[in-house]
Amino acid sequence: MGQRLGVFGGTFDPVHVGHLVAAVNARHDLGLERVLLVVANLPWQKADRAVTPAEDRYAMVEAAVSGVAGLEASRLEIDRGGPSYTADTIAQLHQLEPAAELFLIVGWDVSLELGTWERLEEVKDLATLVVVNRPGALPPEGLVQDGWRLAEVAVPNLEISSTDLRARAASGRPLDYLVPPGAVDVIRARGLYSVGR
Ligand code: ATP
Ligand code: MG
Repeated sequence: MGQRLGVFGGTFDPVHVGHLVAAVNARHDLGLERVLLVVANLPWQKADRAVTPAEDRYAMVEAAVSGVAGLEASRLEIDRGGPSYTADTIAQLHQLEPAAELFLIVGWDVSLELGTWERLEEVKDLATLVVVNRPGALPPEGLVQDGWRLAEVAVPNLEISSTDLRARAASGRPLDYLVPPGAVDVIRARGLYSVGR
């Protein structure tokens, strides 16, 4: 029988504990063997702001999941290059691991924007959607009627976003305990978000 494989895409600019709590709880509640944290190469939704280089974001995610059972950083979208469409990522994973059962994990905010995604029907065919609560967004409605296989995972509400963390760093406030320690080390060592210079 194929693996149950979680796919959790993001810009991760920077990765934070909200991401990791979502990933580990989806893994636990749904009995997923692995959850891939797929680092977006060029997030097409974020064309209006400067995004930290993909290799730096990947290094932060890799450090954040190091030693955490079942969580893995994935380079799939970075190595593919170009804009990162989830439909391409899901199709590629299906080709690489045809027997795997795919679970696409998203927070409430993203679940409300699915209508804007490229080739949504392909994603519906190949993956179960896993929705995780997130403060600041409304719970999604009508996903099953829209044709999704749906699972919901409840996590403690963590009011943390990468946007707030970038602002926090820019004003010299600490990222510690909001960002996993390994990722903080990467931020300091590379002088990202003007921290550690
Ligand atoms: P930004 O503010 O730059 O958009 P972000 O914090 O939203 O950053 P993303 O990389 O955009 O992080 O999100 C990746 C995925 O993680 C999305 O599915 C998003 O809904 C989910 N997510 C992010 N933060 C949380 C959180 N605090 N609780 C639950 N899910 C979250
Ligand atoms: Mg976001």
